[in-house]
Amino acid sequence: MIDFNTLAKKYKTPLYVYDFDYMSSQFEALKEAFKGRKSILAYAVKANSNLSVVKHFAQMGSGADCVSIGEVRRALMCGIPNYKIIFSGVGKSDEEITEALTSDILYINVESDAELSRIEMIAKELGIVARISIRVNPNIDPKTHPYISTGLHANKFGVDINSAKRMYIRCKNSEHINPIGIHFHIGSQLTELDPIREAAEIVADLVRSLSVLKIELKFFDIGGGLGIRYKDETTIAPYDYAQAILSTLTALDVTIICEPGRFLTANSGYFITKVLYEKANSDKRFVIVDGAMNDLIRPSLYDAYHGVDTLEKDGEKSPADIVGPVCESGDFLAKDYPLAKMQHNDLLVLKSAGAYGFGMGSNYNTRGRSAEVAIESGKDRLIRRRESFEDIIALEKEFLEEEM
Ligand SMILES: *Cc1c(COP(=O)(O)O)cnc(C)c1O
Repeated sequence: MIDFNTLAKKYKTPLYVYDFDYMSSQFEALKEAFKGRKSILAYAVKANSNLSVVKHFAQMGSGADCVSIGEVRRALMCGIPNYKIIFSGVGKSDEEITEALTSDILYINVESDAELSRIEMIAKELGIVARISIRVNPNIDPKTHPYISTGLHANKFGVDINSAKRMYIRCKNSEHINPIGIHFHIGSQLTELDPIREAAEIVADLVRSLSVLKIELKFFDIGGGLGIRYKDETTIAPYDYAQAILSTLTALDVTIICEPGRFLTANSGYFITKVLYEKANSDKRFVIVDGAMNDLIRPSLYDAYHGVDTLEKDGEKSPADIVGPVCESGDFLAKDYPLAKMQHNDLLVLKSAGAYGFGMGSNYNTRGRSAEVAIESGKDRLIRRRESFEDIIALEKEFLEEEM
């Protein structure tokens, strides 16, 4: 049991707390599921990019899936070897491509024909051969929230099967491109196995047809997206997930790359916030807290649900909106959540906050971002200090002083 009261006193609120042992056990469970095959788990850094979190996975032998050069730098800094780093993302700049190539990472996931041309040009200028993988959009409905679905033609990600095939043939004829992998990532918070299996089948068929053309791909990159339980979702067991993928790979000698983010970190994390006030009108009860959408935007952005723990506060419960101090009606952490009567300084602990929580934070309303704390083997330690007012204005202040 994590002692949230003590942590809140020690580090103040709002506060993010991550259970590193939980992250380890999720990592091990997924690694174990794929053990019959060569596989690399490449942690999707964007889920929680705190350096200590990335280092924790590095120490477990993880690779990294990065969606900006900044994330690639984080991964390298934390000791993830370059040959286990993948650079994905729909809009990479020339500078990012150049740095990815000179850092000699495993491969770049290419998301369009135009991007392939840029990579080829830059590799030629550098006098090197760029290792790439092509992100295929298999046009499968992942049956998740529309904002986190990525594998439909209506989404901006990847290229369709026929274009991918043309691109691989183009790569084969290029002196500066070496196609070594294939990639798909159909969405996030996936809770159904059928769309994953279907997508893997489509992509595996493409790999086989490329093999006939003497284009031999080494890496079968299945993306991330494995869902977790926020409320009452039925989730996919790692073993079933692995089996579904493996069943599509008969006669293929490929290394599986899996890019889990949410699965590894979401349920390791807690967002602790303190009650400031309660108020009610004829329609609604509001519990106003010191955490807000700038700390945890998932409820506002995706209508996401986070379970709330009131730490043994008893009394009769009635529905309340848990809202922050930010000047937006969209600033809420929960809607109509059954809560006992709350007092000033009572704590609320929002669960499942370890993925896409802190990282999506901002300084909106000139609010400093929360501190982050790790719990490991029963010990707590600060892994990011709370942002001060000085931190927030640091990049603006000099210009004001120049004028005066
Ligand atoms: C975001 C992302 C992931 C991780 O997704 P989760 O749902 O957090 O597992 C993996 N791969 C790519 C390419 C991504 O963009």
